[in-house]
Amino acid sequence: MEILHVSAECYPYAKAGGLADVVGSLPKYQQQLGHIAKVVIPMHRTKFLYDNEWTVEHKGGFMMGSTHYDYTIIKEKHNKLDFDLYCVDIYGLLDRENIYSYDDDTQRFTAFQIAVVDWLSHWEHRPDTVHVHDHHAGLIPFMMRHCFAYRHLANIPTILTIHNAQYQGWMSWDNTNIIPDWDTWQWGLLDWNMMINPLACAVKCVDRVTTVSPSYMEELTQEANGLEQLFVSERYKCSGILNGIDTVVWDPQTDTYILDNYTITDAGSGKLLNKKKLCKDFMLDDTLPLFIYIGRLVGEKAADLLPQAIRDSLNQLGNKMNFLILGSGDKNVEDQLMYLTGNFAGYYNSKIGYNEKLAHQMYAGADFILMPSRVEPCGLNQMYALRYGTIPLVRSTGGLKDTVTDIGEPNGFGIRFNFANIWDITYSIHRAVELYDDQERLTAIRKQIMQIDNSWEKSAEQYINLYTSIQKK
Ligand code: ADP
Repeated sequence: MEILHVSAECYPYAKAGGLADVVGSLPKYQQQLGHIAKVVIPMHRTKFLYDNEWTVEHKGGFMMGSTHYDYTIIKEKHNKLDFDLYCVDIYGLLDRENIYSYDDDTQRFTAFQIAVVDWLSHWEHRPDTVHVHDHHAGLIPFMMRHCFAYRHLANIPTILTIHNAQYQGWMSWDNTNIIPDWDTWQWGLLDWNMMINPLACAVKCVDRVTTVSPSYMEELTQEANGLEQLFVSERYKCSGILNGIDTVVWDPQTDTYILDNYTITDAGSGKLLNKKKLCKDFMLDDTLPLFIYIGRLVGEKAADLLPQAIRDSLNQLGNKMNFLILGSGDKNVEDQLMYLTGNFAGYYNSKIGYNEKLAHQMYAGADFILMPSRVEPCGLNQMYALRYGTIPLVRSTGGLKDTVTDIGEPNGFGIRFNFANIWDITYSIHRAVELYDDQERLTAIRKQIMQIDNSWEKSAEQYINLYTSIQKK
């Protein structure tokens, strides 16, 4: 089967979060299952672009509104990712350093999607399934069925995976002319609440919808940033498939970012060496339990609660632990987290920004990882942490609920709490400190979690079954 994934991100080319990790690994595992998986993303100006060789695959052009754009499809020459990676270059629109957050993102991602569909319509390969990820590719299934120039693609089955339903790509109806001439009888497919809503449109148009965990699928019918009713009515074609992790990239035995590689057998000493280095770099006390947070500093992740929860924990327990935070996001949260360093020097530190290498070092050197998320479609951090022997403290929501069981349960290995509030977070930190004091139990849990299989094998197969089920005769 030939599958074309369309996404805004793909690790290691361009990453802002978990979407990149999934799109950079799922196709690899689909290839291993004997299928042909390809990925197309916008040509962001990242290091990966300049460090690699590319061939030109196709050149074309299209009108968007009253402007003509030329586009070029380039392909990474040496199959570095174990699958074909294509990028869409549109001069002046897509060739930028950041992935998101430009004022013209609506035009940028619409142009990206038109280019992909236009290329598809000229391509000698006809994929068996077009798999679109999140709202940045959400108009593609509509374009393939209802834009006059592309309706010959209407028979290709399509799947949408929702990595995060908070962001939907809303645009006002003034933008209808930037979508290639379309059948206006179908306006209802584009509309949600008097706006063009690419994510809602994809949910309506695709053959199947998946979310990145089963629990998140259930939650979307209750809380989906305005799309709850849509998920209720389209429930019949929706299912949750838990993300896997790339066990080659995330392996403490071979990870080149970390100081000391380790396996289950020498995890105690291996983690300690990594912890010592980390604590030295950040002026922390390596004899105390080390709690980390890695991620976007946004409301969804409940990052706003971290400063107070950390302050309360250090005050209440009298500096019995260390905290190290890595992330970026809301300016106010960033400022508060930086400000804390002055109050708790020696026990607390933070690094504001994005740093892939440091993230690996933190998973390796930490004892516990904090994930108090209000919303967590799947969450990859807890799965990376488990593989590196770091115990997760998670709020029981979305994928966190599907991947972590509490130490109070039979065979439990993590710490779970119900509410995203200061009290639940600090109470779980208390529980973790107690666990840390029982080194024998801690060691046993560490061994247990490093053996949990969160690899892609099972989930990659589930996707293939889904593609198979929608092939048109
Ligand atoms: P998201 O909602 O942000 O996609 P996920 O848990 O699915 O959350 O994925 C987050 C991914 O991004 C993980 O690989 C994590 O290590 C990485 N990450 C997030 N923030 C940072 C950062 N500031 N520096 C390095 N890696 C980060």
